[in-house]
Amino acid sequence: GKGAAMVTAVAYRLAEQSQQIAQTLSEFRLTTEQLLEVKKRMRTEIQNGLSRSTQDSATVKMLPTFVRSTPDGTENGDFLALDLGGTNFRVLLVKIRSGKRTSVDMHNKIYAIPLEVMQGTGEELFDHIVQCISDFLDYMGMKNARLPLGFTFSFPCRQTSLDAGILMTWTKGFKATDCEGEDVVGLLREAIKRREEFDLDVVAVVNDTVGTMMTCAFEEPTCEIGLIAGTGSNACYMEEMRNIEMIEGDEGQMCVNMEWGAFGDNGCLDDIRTEYDRAVDEFSLNPGKQSYEKMCSGMYLGEIVRNILIDLTKRGFLFRGQISETLKTRGIFETKFLSQIESDRLALLQVRSILQHLGLDSTCDDSIIVKEVCGAVSHRAAQLCGAGMAAVVDKIRENRGLEHLDITVGVDGTLYKLHPHFSGVMHQTVKELAPQCDVNFLLSEDGSGKGAALITAVGCRLRQELNN
Ligand code: BGC
Ligand code: MG
Repeated sequence: GKGAAMVTAVAYRLAEQSQQIAQTLSEFRLTTEQLLEVKKRMRTEIQNGLSRSTQDSATVKMLPTFVRSTPDGTENGDFLALDLGGTNFRVLLVKIRSGKRTSVDMHNKIYAIPLEVMQGTGEELFDHIVQCISDFLDYMGMKNARLPLGFTFSFPCRQTSLDAGILMTWTKGFKATDCEGEDVVGLLREAIKRREEFDLDVVAVVNDTVGTMMTCAFEEPTCEIGLIAGTGSNACYMEEMRNIEMIEGDEGQMCVNMEWGAFGDNGCLDDIRTEYDRAVDEFSLNPGKQSYEKMCSGMYLGEIVRNILIDLTKRGFLFRGQISETLKTRGIFETKFLSQIESDRLALLQVRSILQHLGLDSTCDDSIIVKEVCGAVSHRAAQLCGAGMAAVVDKIRENRGLEHLDITVGVDGTLYKLHPHFSGVMHQTVKELAPQCDVNFLLSEDGSGKGAALITAVGCRLRQELNN
């Protein structure tokens, strides 16, 4: 009868709808062949970044860090560290005691950096940073100490020494004026002078990947790679000096900050980018830049999800076809929400309550779809990150002429730590794409702060040796 016909029509519409949603999400499912291709392209870009003749136009910059060795266990002293460029801005006091009994004791305070400071003038930004240091020194009662300081500055910097780094370009949420092209250590020293309140000895500028590698290497000597899967995405590793053509000398190794977030900026990933990736890029602070990072890191995954949800809503598959103000709001899906939504332990009702909390009124069907969308986007991110890492470990293996390589990667970042599936999928991908390597991933607790202190300790020691 009529009723049955209606039921059939509804069933048909639903089947058609879920088929279309599956179709949309299938673009995010990368085959092993595609991932091997990504690995190969990363390898090409690594080579371009290392070679003198291609360096200038290279997208993956392979920046020398002037860190020549991992910690040797003789590091000692009290250090200040700054950590700028991750989820939180922090000031830290790190006490390292090496020897028979090694200990690292840390105190830290998190400070907010208001959006208008992140995107205001450079002077305002650095004055704010120094204001926070001042507060911290008061809090610790250490204003008169003139401590050595390590500055973890998680942006691409062209370094000419351990304590000089020219900011090449802002990434992630930062856009302060008058900083690009400037030495950020100089900007920090000037701001300290302007304040006329205390003095510090800025010894090192450190990328967060490098700090993370050093922290893990302090406990695990096979750690020669650092990885950040957080707000941004990047890796560093110990490269042979002979392969770093921009730096004189062929002996030994130096840590190279890859700045792999810019992978794809020459269009080499265009065949796997989707219309949603392009939309996220277009409305970002840095269109056309950090292509790979925009597919892999916490700051952008939620934005990709949001763009897919808007599209599915427009097509009438979600939220009763109504695009709410919330859904139009950039940045609503932070890493922590994606992580919650994808948690296996969560019942759909709880997914709905998270969406509700974000201001999205969902039906039960809606919440199923949202969860699927999140899954597709984060799965691709983890696979792409794994493909990049596979290129790195195989490069190191070949550098050493080995059939088989055992190596440890020090990792940090909110996406890696909070997301229920990211790390597992990433590990699995590396295993599949680099079968000649046994890669051990070690979570670095507080890598950026501790690592900056370790590098500062080495810097101080080298300076003393030079003076004696
Ligand atoms: C920056 C890197 C940093 C990474 C992780 C990227 O946006 O360019 O320098 O290591 O984020 O924080
Ligand atoms: Mg960090």
